[in-house]
Amino acid sequence: MYLYNSLTKTKDEFVPHEPGKVSMYTCGPTVYHFAHIGNLRTYIMEDILDRYLRYSGYDVTRVMNITDVGHLTSDADTGEDKMLKGAKREKKTVMEIAQFYTDKFFEDCNALNIRRPEVVEPATGCIDEFIRVIESLIEKGYAYEAGGNIYFDTSKLEQYYVFHNFEEEDLAVGVREGVEEDGNKRNKADFVLWFTKSKFDDQELKWNSPWGVGYPGWHIECSCISMKHLGGHLDIHCGGIDNAFPHHTNEIAQSEAYLGHKWCNWWVHVLHLNTNSGKMSKSKGEFLTVSLLMDKGYDPMVYRFFCLQSHYRKSLVFSWENMDNAKVAFNKLIARIATLEKDGEVDGAVFAEQKASFVKALDNDLNTSLAVTAVYDVLKAKTNGATKRALLADFDTVLCLDLLAHADALNAEKNAEAEKPASDDPFIREIEELIEARKTAKKEKNYAEADRIRAYLADKGVTLVDTKEGTTYKLD
Ligand code: AMP
Ligand code: ZN
Repeated sequence: MYLYNSLTKTKDEFVPHEPGKVSMYTCGPTVYHFAHIGNLRTYIMEDILDRYLRYSGYDVTRVMNITDVGHLTSDADTGEDKMLKGAKREKKTVMEIAQFYTDKFFEDCNALNIRRPEVVEPATGCIDEFIRVIESLIEKGYAYEAGGNIYFDTSKLEQYYVFHNFEEEDLAVGVREGVEEDGNKRNKADFVLWFTKSKFDDQELKWNSPWGVGYPGWHIECSCISMKHLGGHLDIHCGGIDNAFPHHTNEIAQSEAYLGHKWCNWWVHVLHLNTNSGKMSKSKGEFLTVSLLMDKGYDPMVYRFFCLQSHYRKSLVFSWENMDNAKVAFNKLIARIATLEKDGEVDGAVFAEQKASFVKALDNDLNTSLAVTAVYDVLKAKTNGATKRALLADFDTVLCLDLLAHADALNAEKNAEAEKPASDDPFIREIEELIEARKTAKKEKNYAEADRIRAYLADKGVTLVDTKEGTTYKLD
């Protein structure tokens, strides 16, 4: 498999450190709010990578952190504490907020068929580990104490800016909006490993450390959690592109200073989901969630399908129109799959040929849009339904769009509809017909007509109830 590596800036043939095994680390969510569908684009694409490596025969171990220690809204050690901001907003404790949004995050992942990594570790569970690594960095001369905080000394490294060709001046700390210069730092790029001088008097979570009561910097958690579970050689580290600097750059600095050798070989970054008004961002407070998509009648698989239609190294624009197009295409695809005959024998030659083009697409830096094309090619292939269904089942172990399950559900729905005896009561028949007419009106975005039908029935004492399974009604 060829996989783009942000370190080498080329598509390199993927070779794990240990043959047949892959260690993979994913930056997890900051749990002070719901994950937005932009965050989830990143997790969907990382999930595809994880599943494709397994499909290719690798034994994958994947680790993810949960950022539940309060970190600052700006990466330059200033701004507001995100966790505290969430706790204040909802009048809860920081730990209550963390638990609630961690659970919500995994509910969203479930809805989108995103596999849970083997290890999920909250930062607050690893404080001793952070302290141990920071102590070692001080001993090795890579970290210093200033003004009560411990900083990583970036001048001790041969090369600090590994992903970008930033010069120190480009950082222009102190000039960037809302970022104050930290006088304790020896070099502008230095970053905090441990804070004891919190700018927040009411910081809730603090721990004892050799340097006083305080809390860890953000970057140290990913280095430590990864090394704790995956050892000193990591094959793949992934995250959204915004994490490349400073987060991943700092992770590399401190991990390699600690280990004394190269730490991670592949850095995989997913580009952002944007709206027409720019990047979707949690800290702006206004964003789209999976439950909002579901409330608006979109199956979560439509969003996964939408993401798979584009390449992870291109930014993706979200709009309702794009979602509607994805929905129409997905429903058409399911309707075509639903017509496939189940009987017959799988044709081995056709199976191998079609599978080869699916593999070729994903082997080329995870080209998911070509992998989706391979699904359509299966439907067009000159072979029986059983071969096609077998291929779709195989591809779906990676794509995870629940293709056959959706097609079977559609057929079951049609059969149930056909078997349902029409009511003798003309009033009930009218209600049922109007529910159907309203469904069509909504599909055609004729909301005025849909509302007119609802009001008309309400007048007659019929209340419509919209559920995920469809519309039912109650009589007064
Ligand atoms: P956070 O919860 O903010 O730490 O972010 C969780 C993951 O989502 C990280 O890998 C981020 O890089 C990624 N991310 C943040 N914003 C976006 C976006 N608009 N589109 C895609 N990924 C994003
Ligand atoms: Zn991280």
